[in-house]
Amino acid sequence: MENRKGGENKMQEIHTIMKHMDALIADPSAAAFKATLPFAELLEKLHNKKALFDAALAKSAERADAGRIIGKTSHIDALAYLLDISKSEAFRRTKRAEEHYGNPSPEPSSEELAKETPEEKLAREEKEKQDLAEQAEANRIAREHGISAEKQDTIRYELEKLNDNTSLSRASLRKLAMQEATSRTPEDLRNWTRNKVIRINPTAKDPLAAVKKRSLSIGRQDHDGGAKASLYLDAKGLALLKSLMSKAKPGHLLEDSLAEDKRTKPQRQYDAFADILHRAHSDLLPARSGVGTILVSLSAKDVTNLKASGPDHRYPTSTGIKLTPLEILRLGAAKYDFVTVLDSESGRPLHLARTQRTASLYQRLALFASELVCTREGCDSPFEDNEIHHIRSWLDGGPTDIENITNICPHDHGNNNDQRDGKDNMGHMNIDPTTGRVGYQPADRRKPMRFNNTAAAAESGGAQART
Ligand SMILES: [Zn+2]
Repeated sequence: MENRKGGENKMQEIHTIMKHMDALIADPSAAAFKATLPFAELLEKLHNKKALFDAALAKSAERADAGRIIGKTSHIDALAYLLDISKSEAFRRTKRAEEHYGNPSPEPSSEELAKETPEEKLAREEKEKQDLAEQAEANRIAREHGISAEKQDTIRYELEKLNDNTSLSRASLRKLAMQEATSRTPEDLRNWTRNKVIRINPTAKDPLAAVKKRSLSIGRQDHDGGAKASLYLDAKGLALLKSLMSKAKPGHLLEDSLAEDKRTKPQRQYDAFADILHRAHSDLLPARSGVGTILVSLSAKDVTNLKASGPDHRYPTSTGIKLTPLEILRLGAAKYDFVTVLDSESGRPLHLARTQRTASLYQRLALFASELVCTREGCDSPFEDNEIHHIRSWLDGGPTDIENITNICPHDHGNNNDQRDGKDNMGHMNIDPTTGRVGYQPADRRKPMRFNNTAAAAESGGAQART
């Protein structure tokens, strides 16, 4: 009885908050500020509580195998689709759930476990117990103080840079950071956690620390066609790069090495680096497999319209990066002539048959020209990252003919039900019997097929041919 009353009171409170919200949205006057403030504070608390609720929901979605609801294997996809949030937001919620409900200790490898002495085993188990206690305490602080999603995600992000085998365990540091989060601003908390990690890392005895941190990530292409990249080198990579960069003295790579070199040092270094990339790239070009080559999507229509489109028009390539005609020429790609005839009804390449399991380079080229990105709805994974999929499975007698293959990303490939039996609500890629276009057939065959109509897919030769 008491509980139900409590519940009713809560509903009343929410109702009051909603009324205040509507009033302020309609009239954000100076007079309204003071009156609304207490409710705004309450709302902020609710918002912070939602951070934990979201994490818990992500955990329960994982346990419920929620991906099946939408015909996929990943519960992250399901959260994104059902709640209409981005995949990166769904991913952050899942990560937050791991922090709260996952194993807080680093998991030893099977080799490490095999050579463990009884004393070491005891020490490890003791440590794991401590970590669990620290995790519980950190979770309690987050819950009782309503630590915001932003602060929790900041802590996780900074702790990812902590080495293994540090004097202070990751779980302990998370608890300390959560305590700091109760009084620090998000920016201040980031600095606090980062400084802690920097101070603790050198005490760790991990000879592979730098190797584990090695990374190269490439950002999105900006309006000028370029992108930022960030790089972390281990000692070996650092030595190699340093020695290559030592060549980038004034005059390096200039045709007239005596002329005045007006480039800055970072520009010279970049030119030296790009020269290496270019050379490595031409080494790979003769490869039959098409690996390491950049495919440029230029349909017959594009070639005739080259002049009309202008020199600044960017054409899609298999890497997901768009290039202007000049940039294509600079790559030396003009030496290669790709012509694909696309069907105006389906946008699919017309006939290029071969009977072998792996699609030939020419089939890949044809698919690339017509599809450009993964053909499952809503996906923008570029061709280069994708796999060739047999629409009717190879085992089921499906041939490696251009009519029977499509490109899908590894993620969606894993979600395809080759048996086509609708089990676990998993559908499959199919060809639309009326238009011939490739798309996704949901497990329930009464439902219509779904096609990839994303902005990325709209740039494909196939989409251009269809319009
Ligand atoms: Zn995909």
